[in-house]
Amino acid sequence: MAKVTIDNIEIEVPDGTSILNAARMIGGDIVPPAMCYYSKLKDSGGKCRTCLVKVTKGSEKDPRPMPKLVASCRTPVQDGMVVQNSTSQEVVETRNGIVEMLLINHPLDCPVCDQAGECDLQNLAYDHGKEATRYEFDRRTFDKIDIGDKIQLHMTRCILCYRCVYTADQITNNRVHGILGRGDASEISTYIEKAIDNDFSGNIIDVCPVGALTDKTYRFKNRVWFTKPVDAHRDCPTCSGKVVMWYKGEEVIRITGRKDVNGELEEFICNTCRFEKKATSDWIIEGPRKIDDKSVISQNHYLADRMKPVIDKIV
Ligand code: SF4
Repeated sequence: MAKVTIDNIEIEVPDGTSILNAARMIGGDIVPPAMCYYSKLKDSGGKCRTCLVKVTKGSEKDPRPMPKLVASCRTPVQDGMVVQNSTSQEVVETRNGIVEMLLINHPLDCPVCDQAGECDLQNLAYDHGKEATRYEFDRRTFDKIDIGDKIQLHMTRCILCYRCVYTADQITNNRVHGILGRGDASEISTYIEKAIDNDFSGNIIDVCPVGALTDKTYRFKNRVWFTKPVDAHRDCPTCSGKVVMWYKGEEVIRITGRKDVNGELEEFICNTCRFEKKATSDWIIEGPRKIDDKSVISQNHYLADRMKPVIDKIV
């Protein structure tokens, strides 16, 4: 076991735990954001740099600070390590710069993007973004690629986190897409433009932290904050059958996997559950889905609590 202190909170974690996962064990606002790391996907992480933290004491044995900020998703804790995340001005300023970089090529089309309201980059931009861009050049553009009748790829929104590639590689039995090109010319592609066609391919929609991969069966049907999410399950021979059903009135307009407090899928679900079971009668309803109270989806649920101090001041 190793004792580590993150933003002045001490915790003991198993040897080999990453700083990010140690922070997740503590929970709350001290958890660094992560756009590419996904605990259920082997080798993910180390790409987006949003989880950078400052190590002010390396370990009990070697207390020297680490000379540069480190990616918390890829750096294991050492016994006696001291880490700063939001308590370090250097980390906050660096994260601001990383968000500015991520937004250089990302279009500001949140008003028409299906991911708006549940987009990790949108949330990050609210916390760390600037009001204006300093970038004066043309943004990247791509030829449109059709990746099948269920999933829509918007390459201009992609931040190259590789999560979808790892999902396709590790969860499906036949990866048919990956990242082509290098640097500014990198892009997701289905080699020879083949449709992604296997039982678990729909999970790439849920792991995508932005709106680059969206559900064609749900496109433009509603804004997520007007929908009613409920937990439901069915006896599925392929996956756990545990899903979230998103209602617009009486109509089920979308099925997704269930996400945990870190925004990661609890379990991957199959395409039959996701795309083909859109009738309430297909499911056993468990009850309303509790969504993280930071999400715009939850705003009305939490309004009374949040408004109380304001209301108290007025009356
Ligand atoms: Fe990541 Fe989405 Fe781009 Fe895939 S399409 S690399 S999940 S941002």
